[in-house]
Amino acid sequence: MIIPTSLARRCLGIAIALSLTTTARADDVATRFERIVAEGLPTTFAIHHRAVDGDEGTSSLMTIDERLPVELAFPDGTTGSMYAGTLDGHDIVATRHDGHVELDDERHLTRRVTDMTPTPHATRNRRAQALAQDGSPRTVNVHFLLHENLRERFTADDIHHDYVAWWLKDMTKTILPFMRIVVHYHMSDMPEAEGSPSHMMPGGIMRLDLRNANALQVVADAAEVMFARVDGTADAHLNKLVMLVGGELKGNIDGMAYQRGAAAIASVDGSYRVVAHELGHLFGAEHDDGAVLYRGGWWCESNMYPVVFQLRSKCYAYTRENQRRIRNYAIAGPESVFAGATPIED
Ligand SMILES: [Zn+2]
Repeated sequence: MIIPTSLARRCLGIAIALSLTTTARADDVATRFERIVAEGLPTTFAIHHRAVDGDEGTSSLMTIDERLPVELAFPDGTTGSMYAGTLDGHDIVATRHDGHVELDDERHLTRRVTDMTPTPHATRNRRAQALAQDGSPRTVNVHFLLHENLRERFTADDIHHDYVAWWLKDMTKTILPFMRIVVHYHMSDMPEAEGSPSHMMPGGIMRLDLRNANALQVVADAAEVMFARVDGTADAHLNKLVMLVGGELKGNIDGMAYQRGAAAIASVDGSYRVVAHELGHLFGAEHDDGAVLYRGGWWCESNMYPVVFQLRSKCYAYTRENQRRIRNYAIAGPESVFAGATPIED
């Protein structure tokens, strides 16, 4: 896996901040932890932690996703609470009890939080990070281009109901409830660039030759023109361009996308989840975190599961791991979606 430079930079900032706060007393940890989670979940902050039976300890980025509906009562009359989250991306469960916060993972190694870092990450929860500087919600803009080859069979309304409406519900209710999503459907060859009527898309893209090996690059070039005005801003990565087409793409595939990029192509003759799948790639979701789940008495494929098998149903959802990837990407994002994104077929 390639670690984006922005993450590396952030980790360095945390390491420096930790070295400045090592004088804090360990018994403050539970109180400080409660204060941070009370500001709103999910929240991410830097911690120092060590194994309960010794070791010198290490620094990590911890995310607390939710408080579990559990209350603990110990024989000495003390109480505790529990939280689910991740430590450097791995699932953990955190228990706050009697002045301590301890972390358990699937390896049954209990680690104790020995310090917490009052960096901006500790005081600003994710909802706060999800606000623009003027306090309004940050906005995801998804532009769909409807290729000429599907217009005899589909209207923009059909596309919306079959492929996009349920994705929007999942994104706004479950994954990014603190952001606003604006969806634009385009039939014209020349939709205006973001906020700038003077930047027009290259003409003829709605008749894009789908047998062209560079079809995805053509869409990416169009995205670059459309989003030129916002590139380099904090929210550049929240602008996406998806071309919807009929039929198969070159190589008998149903879709392709730039991983963590701005542009994708999806065929509406593929699976009902193909649009959500390609959008998932654009927002950092991965095949490896896709899964076949058992829901409602039958097996279903999550949005990012790479294999379509007709006997299984569709979950119309991302797995929890991919929800986390999408949320992290939407909040932090790269500064440019045009540099370093990798093309992925299907
Ligand atoms: Zn894929």
